[in-house]
Amino acid sequence: MSILSRRTFLKQNAILGVGAALSPALPAMALPAVSPSVPAILGGTPLLKTEWPKWPRWNPETDEPKLLEVLRSGVWSRAGVTAEFEQKWASALGVKRSLLVVNGTNALTIALNQLDIRAGDEVLIPPYTFIATAAAVLANGAMPVFVDVDPETFQIDPARIEAKITPRTKAIMPVHILGLPADMPAIMAIAKKHNLVVIEDACQAHLAEINHQKVGTLGQAGCFSFQNSKNLAIGEGGAIVSNDDAFMDRCFSYQNFGYPYGNVVGSVSTGSIRQGSKLRITDYQAAIGLAQLARLDAETTTRNTNAAYLKSRLAAIPGIIPYKLYDHVTRGAFHLFPFRYRQEGFSGLSRAAFLKALQAEGVPCSSGYATLNDQLFLKDAFASKNFRKSYPREMLNFEEYVARNACPMNARLCNEEAVWFTQNMLLGTRQDMDLIADAVARVHQYADTIRKQTNR
Ligand SMILES: *Cc1c(COP(=O)(O)O)cnc(C)c1O
Repeated sequence: MSILSRRTFLKQNAILGVGAALSPALPAMALPAVSPSVPAILGGTPLLKTEWPKWPRWNPETDEPKLLEVLRSGVWSRAGVTAEFEQKWASALGVKRSLLVVNGTNALTIALNQLDIRAGDEVLIPPYTFIATAAAVLANGAMPVFVDVDPETFQIDPARIEAKITPRTKAIMPVHILGLPADMPAIMAIAKKHNLVVIEDACQAHLAEINHQKVGTLGQAGCFSFQNSKNLAIGEGGAIVSNDDAFMDRCFSYQNFGYPYGNVVGSVSTGSIRQGSKLRITDYQAAIGLAQLARLDAETTTRNTNAAYLKSRLAAIPGIIPYKLYDHVTRGAFHLFPFRYRQEGFSGLSRAAFLKALQAEGVPCSSGYATLNDQLFLKDAFASKNFRKSYPREMLNFEEYVARNACPMNARLCNEEAVWFTQNMLLGTRQDMDLIADAVARVHQYADTIRKQTNR
C-alpha cells in the first residue's frame, strides 16, 4: 500500500469508526472487510440491486391482437386505426382535434408552418429544451430567440419574455420541459397583450395539467412526441392538437401532399391546394400507440405519486434542490425527475463525481442537456441562402447572436446544477424511491471522502 493510498484508506476508515482499531503495521490483506454503509464508489456494496422497470412496456396478451390485425389486414398506411388513435388522444386531452404524424419534430414544424410562421419572423423559445424545438423554428426559415429559464421550475421564465419581443416576434413556443408544465397563464397573458401565437411544445408532457386542463390544449396548438423514450412510446410518432378546425384541416392537408382535408389517403385525383409534404404515420404505429395509451393515465398517476414522495425525501438532503411546480399545476407528466445539485452542500464534490458515485450505487442519473443557444447548427442555418435573403446581416453574425441570446440561468443548470432521473424509474415502488433517496444521502454523508479519494 503506498503512503498516499494508506492515508486515504485510514481517512475513510476513520469516518467508519474502524480506523482506531487498525494498526498502521497491518498488511493490506489482513484488513477487515469494509462496512456495508461505505459508498459503492469507495468499494462498498451498491445500495440498489433493483432492475428498473423496462421501457417501453409491452404486454403480448393485451397489446398484440390489434397490432396483428393491422399487419394481417395489409392496410398499413394511415387509415382507420390512426383515426381511432387520434380520436382517443383528443378525448384524453379534452381537445377537439388531434392529428398523428411521423414525429414530434415535424408536428412542431407543421404547426408553425400552418400558423404562418416563416422567414423574417422571430419565435421565442427556452434554451432548456431538446434541439427539436429550435430545429422546427429554423425549418420554417424563422429565427429562434432564446428566453432564459426560471431555475426553480426549469421552465421558460415569463418575467423575461417581454424584453425579448421585437417587431419581428410572431410566436412564443413554451416547452413543458421534463414533463413539468410551463407557466401558461402568465405566457398566454403576454401573448394576448402582444398579439402573439402560442404553440406549446408538449413533447415531454403527456397528460400534464394546469388547473385541470391538459397542457398542449392551452395555446393555439400543442405538439406531442411518441418517440421511444417518451411517456407514450410508439418508436416514432407525433401529434398536433388544437380546437381550431380550420387550422387542423390545413395541418392534415400539409402532411398529405397538400391534398384537401377529407381526401382519402392514397387518392391523387383531386389535386393539391397547398404546399405540403408527406409526413404520414402508419396504422401499425397507431395500433402500438393505442396499446400504450391504455395504460398512460395509470402510469402518470404512479409517476406523480412517486415523484412527490421522492421529492419530499430529497429535499431534506443539504445541497439537493428538487424541481418546483407552479401553484396552478394539478398534474405533472414527469418525463424526467429533475433537481439541482449544489456542490457546496456536498463538501465541494463536483456534479460529475456525484453522478458517478450515485451511478455506482445502482441509481441511473445524468446531467441532462448541454446549452443549446450557442451550438453550431444555428451558425449553419444563418449561413444559408434563405437566411441571408430573409434577415439583415447584423442579425446573422453568430458571435453577436450568441451574446444577444446569452442565458446565464440556463448555463448554470446545464453546466453545473441539473441532475435527472428518467421516467421509468418513477414507475418503481415506494421502496425504490426510498433506496434512491438513501443512495443520495449516502453519497452526501461521504462526500468529503469521495472528493479526496477520487480527487474531484
Ligand atoms: C422529443 C422532443 C421533441 C421531438 O420529438 P420527436 O418525436 O423525437 O421528433 C421535441 N421537443 C421536445 C421537448 C422533445 O423532448
